[in-house]
Amino acid sequence: MVPLKNNHQDFKPINKNSGYRERVRKLLTEVFSRVSFETDESISPSIDPVQVAASVESVMFERIGWSNTIKKAYYQSILFNLKDPKNPDLRRKVLLGEIKPETPVTVSAEEMASHRRQSENIQVQLKSLKRCMHDADEEEKATTDMFQCSQCCERKCSYYQMQTRSADESMTTYVTCCKCNKRWEV
Ligand SMILES: [Zn+2]
Repeated sequence: MVPLKNNHQDFKPINKNSGYRERVRKLLTEVFSRVSFETDESISPSIDPVQVAASVESVMFERIGWSNTIKKAYYQSILFNLKDPKNPDLRRKVLLGEIKPETPVTVSAEEMASHRRQSENIQVQLKSLKRCMHDADEEEKATTDMFQCSQCCERKCSYYQMQTRSADESMTTYVTCCKCNKRWEV
């Protein structure tokens, strides 16, 4: 006996993590429903945003799964791309079947890598900004005799600590001598 072909066979039933998966499908349905307001093209009534949302979500779940923060970020990156107000083309093409449901998933993997690099750059900028602000506040800082200046031998120094490397490494201590203004790191 030949099994019956079912139009919805791509849409795997939701069981595990169903609450979250339902929310993703709902979000994607909203995204794809928006297309009809964004395009002048007439959208065939046979195209159902709910079904397209379900097939994109199925690909996401199959390719990425759902278990940790990195995977959550990956999900968010895909949703972000599809929702992006500056990119109505992507959701329209997926809805109309001009590009496959897996395309936004693979595109996001590459973009996520570049977003991560960008956010690292922003972190570095934030750190140097913080350091400048610290320098400006220097006069108000408490002093300590924990450090001795190698230049003038004074024991009155101010200091602050900052995370300059990755979060799991120890903090760097920036010391400034109150007498001669010599600065060093510990
Ligand atoms: Zn000194």
